[in-house]
Amino acid sequence: MSEPTPPPTAEPTSGASPARREGTAIARQSSEAPSNTAPGKRSSWLPGPAQGFGVTFATMFKKVTTEEYPEVPKQTKPRYHGRHVLNRHPDGLEKCVGCELCAWACPADAIYVEGGDNTEDARFSPGERYGAVYQINYLRCIFCGLCIEACPTRSLTMSNDFELADDDRQALIYTKEQLMAPLLPGMEQPPHPMRLGENEQDYYVRDPKAAPPTQQAAEPVIEERA
Ligand code: SF4
Ligand code: SF4
Repeated sequence: MSEPTPPPTAEPTSGASPARREGTAIARQSSEAPSNTAPGKRSSWLPGPAQGFGVTFATMFKKVTTEEYPEVPKQTKPRYHGRHVLNRHPDGLEKCVGCELCAWACPADAIYVEGGDNTEDARFSPGERYGAVYQINYLRCIFCGLCIEACPTRSLTMSNDFELADDDRQALIYTKEQLMAPLLPGMEQPPHPMRLGENEQDYYVRDPKAAPPTQQAAEPVIEERA
């Protein structure tokens, strides 16, 4: 068995003499001695109430940061992640093809999609399929934006609308009708045939010589409140 280790001593290890060490300790004590002012208390010749009003007067002249919401709506950053929008093509057909990629990408399981088949009699999007049922549960959504990154058609985007509070849980499950972008001038409410070309190639890759859609219809949709 090994020898037990002696307990550490409080003796300093420097080579200074005991008298010198004692003097240093006394000098340190005197320099660190508390003043007659309590810690955290400022010394002033003003009485306490006057010091308090000094803080008040100094604050009165600082820049006010109060927001007048909801009388004055807050201006968000341009790329703020707000309520989602399901966008349309310039003729009014829906960009959503019901692929469910957004639902699979969502980490909060907030999106529910059911795809449906387009027919020549009832066409909602230019492709074979469309989003027949589309819901976003804003009780779950954390506004991460992964769903809009996953969308292959740029159907799903996010607006700057942040007013999503409600006292009814059911009302915070937004349906396709609430999420769809409004019809702009030049658009037609689906179902209807493709207006921008006879086939998908014509529809998506339009002839540059063909008349462009109206500027208003081509602008991204960022505002709509159901
Ligand atoms: S923003 Fe994020 S949490 Fe909200 S629906 Fe999209 S993927 Fe889900
Ligand atoms: S919004 Fe986009 S990702 Fe989601 S189902 Fe529609 S096309 Fe697919």
